[in-house]
Amino acid sequence: MSDDWPQALFLLLVSPAVGSFLGVLVDRLPSRGIRALLQPSRCATCTAALAWRDMVPVFSTMVLGGRCRVCGTTIPGHLLRIEIAALLAGLVAVLLTRSSAEMWLTAALFWCLIALFYTDLLQFRLPDALTLTLFVLGLAMAWLDPERGLANGLFSAAIAVTAFWVIRTGYFQWRGREGLGLGDVKLMAGIGAALGWALVPVVTLVAAGMALTVVAVEAILRKTAPGADTRLPLGSYLCAATVLLLVV
Ligand SMILES: [Zn+2]
Repeated sequence: MSDDWPQALFLLLVSPAVGSFLGVLVDRLPSRGIRALLQPSRCATCTAALAWRDMVPVFSTMVLGGRCRVCGTTIPGHLLRIEIAALLAGLVAVLLTRSSAEMWLTAALFWCLIALFYTDLLQFRLPDALTLTLFVLGLAMAWLDPERGLANGLFSAAIAVTAFWVIRTGYFQWRGREGLGLGDVKLMAGIGAALGWALVPVVTLVAAGMALTVVAVEAILRKTAPGADTRLPLGSYLCAATVLLLVV
C-alpha cells in the first residue's frame, strides 16, 4: 500500500471525476476525434446542455435516477459503470503500490485500459490517442521497475507488436479478410511495455480464454451457435486480461 496517505486520499477523490472524463473520451474520441473533447456536455437525445450538478460523478446519476433532467431519456449505463470502474482502479492502485509515483502511474494505466476496453466494446475502435497514451504509460512503468528498465519496456513492446503483426498478416493470407485489427496491434505496444515480453503469450491466452468463455455463454443463453463472422472486441479482452495480470 502507498504510504503517502494525503496523495492516496486525493487519488481516490479524483478517481470518479477521471471516470467521468473517461466516459466523455469513450463517447466522443472514436467518432469525433480529440477536438470534440472540449465541447460542453449535452444530452444525446434532446441536446440540452448539462449543468455542473448533472455531471457530479456517480452522485448525479443516482439523484437523477439515470435520466436526463430535461427530456427524461435514460442516460447510457456505461457512463456510471466507467465512473465506478475508475474509482475501483484508483483503490487497487493505492493498495498495490508502495511509492506515490508508482501509485499514480498504475492508476493512469488502469484508467487508460478502462477507456480502451469500452471504446472497443461499444464501437469496435481503439483510438490512436489512447493506444499511444498506453504505450507511454507502459514504458514509464517499465522504467520505474528496477528489475526491468526502459530498454526492457521498448524490447517488450517490439516483441508484442511483432507477434500480433505476424498473426494479423498470417490470418489475412489464410482467410482473405481481416481477423485482427491494426488497433489491436498498436494496443499490444502498450500492453507489452507494461507487462514485459515474457507475459505477452500469457496475456494473449488469458484474453482468448475470456473471449471464448463469453462467446460460449452467450451461445448457450441465446441457443444459437456463433458464426465465423461473429465480431469480437478482442482489444477489450486484452485490456481486461492485462488488468488481471497486473493485479494478480
Ligand atoms: Zn435530454
